[in-house]
Amino acid sequence: MLRALLTLAIGLGSIATAQAGEPIVYTLSFPDAQNSYADVEARIPVEGRTELEVMMAVWTPGSYLIREYARHVEQVAATSDSGQPLNLVKTRKNRWRISALGAASAVVLRYKVYGREMSVRTNWVERDFALINGAPTFMTLADDGGPRSHIVEVRRPEGWAAVHTALPRADGGGDRFVAADFDTLVDSPMLLGSPRTAEFEVGGKAHLLVDDGGGDVWNTEQAAADVRRIIETQQAFWGTVPYDRYTILNVIHESRGGLEHLASTVVMASRWHQRLRPRYLQWLRLVSHEYFHTWNVKRLRPVELGPFDYERENHSRSLWIAEGITSYYDALLLHRAGLSTVDEYLDMLSDRLRAVARTPGRAIRSLELASFDAWIRYYRKDENWSNTDVSYYDKGAAVAWLLDARIRAATNGKKSLDDAMRTAYQRFSGERGFRTEAFYALASEVAGSDLGPWFAHHAASTDPLDYAPALRWLGLRLAPARDTKAGWLGVRSADRGGRLIVREVVRDGPAWQGGVNPDDEIIAIEGYRVTAGGLGERLEQYRPGTRIELLIARRERMSTLAVVLGEPPQEPTIEFDPQADARAIARRTAWLGTPAAGAQKSNK
Ligand SMILES: [Zn+2]
Repeated sequence: MLRALLTLAIGLGSIATAQAGEPIVYTLSFPDAQNSYADVEARIPVEGRTELEVMMAVWTPGSYLIREYARHVEQVAATSDSGQPLNLVKTRKNRWRISALGAASAVVLRYKVYGREMSVRTNWVERDFALINGAPTFMTLADDGGPRSHIVEVRRPEGWAAVHTALPRADGGGDRFVAADFDTLVDSPMLLGSPRTAEFEVGGKAHLLVDDGGGDVWNTEQAAADVRRIIETQQAFWGTVPYDRYTILNVIHESRGGLEHLASTVVMASRWHQRLRPRYLQWLRLVSHEYFHTWNVKRLRPVELGPFDYERENHSRSLWIAEGITSYYDALLLHRAGLSTVDEYLDMLSDRLRAVARTPGRAIRSLELASFDAWIRYYRKDENWSNTDVSYYDKGAAVAWLLDARIRAATNGKKSLDDAMRTAYQRFSGERGFRTEAFYALASEVAGSDLGPWFAHHAASTDPLDYAPALRWLGLRLAPARDTKAGWLGVRSADRGGRLIVREVVRDGPAWQGGVNPDDEIIAIEGYRVTAGGLGERLEQYRPGTRIELLIARRERMSTLAVVLGEPPQEPTIEFDPQADARAIARRTAWLGTPAAGAQKSNK
């Protein structure tokens, strides 16, 4: 298997001078799992060098933030393959140099990794199980020229039944896995423990759901049956399946999040959420989202996202295409799979529009700039984030919906964003990657008209989005605004020990105009005490336009502020338009899709 991989790598790179090196072989063991440690040994071929430098990634693909994984690495030491201690010096925050290698044919590097952050992009190690991600775990040769396979041998603690990962097992079986290169290693998280599993075939490919932590609360069979429908629907959507085997590592340990990989995903869940319809729907949607990424972003990707530079930021203006379009389809395809009702779907779409409406920063930062700045902003939200930024997930999904409707209208229903995505996949997937403008040009091509100005408006500018054309085309409308009698203050607040603390002040809202700041404690309104839980009800006492006096404490000093309450911003809710004519209804039906025959068998 290994030899075949190396031969293939050299064959593909026949023009390049790069030679495939000997593999780096890791041994991963857990003698101190109960204290959250994994032990790593890396056997690195010397290949005639007099010194070599190793590096630890500072981020992991799919999660655009410098995370400094090296901070969880300790007790780094190196010996020769014959056991002689070697000189090792730390040269950068994430690099070590091993020198005076003498006659060593391999360097044996040993270190410990601390893993106690329950997220899809970090490590978690405890007595009964471990989630191991590549980037925070495996050091590799820095500035390594050619292709090089990376082998991981796992020494499972007694009592851990299995290792689950998308990596293929090396010849000879056992827990020895082969990654064709470092990218593949980083892209193949491992779940070690004793999870429940469900295996099923879709489109001739094997799929494995790995449920760890669900106990007797989470129903694996139910989850697998629903996931299967998601997979069927999305395979039919794309018309091509780019893997042999796909693994869903479902970490049911009361955390959240998901991360896409080439042939697997890690999703996190609460065991209780399967029994609560809206929460379970969120989990299904998360699976749908990460699975859609198998095509959109893992293979159809912005050109900036690969080959990755693991030691610095990789900026892209197209994250909104990767994440926004995926966020549009995660819910739509869940509905087409027959897993959500129309009302549930429209509510999910409306949620994206409402999130945009609640974000004044939409007037400050365009989708493209929000994408580009993800590294310094999206994953580092502070009290002023909503005032200065917009989510490329939420606005991206809203714009994807508008784009879908635009293409449908421009082609009189003959084409849609579905076609654009499939064509983009055919044209750009694989080694190439797309430039932002190339994606826009392709959408124009599918629409049969120049969408350049449309993208300039929707993706590159901060101009307000107009939902009317999409609503009209699809036989939808915004629900009539509800008459509000309560005054709006324009703060987001928190309960700190019963005290009402301002967390965020909405840009240009009443509190903003009145000089209320984040971290102010609101003590009283018009001379009457107000507590953390009572703000909403108290504001119902006052009509919009009423001037009220707030007693606040700011760093222990009392003062009063005058605020004129406003009208709350309209939060759009999409619904069927009762006035829609037969043609609009037909277009709406085509858009929503009908569940495939197999998916109509309800499992309720
Ligand atoms: Zn995503």
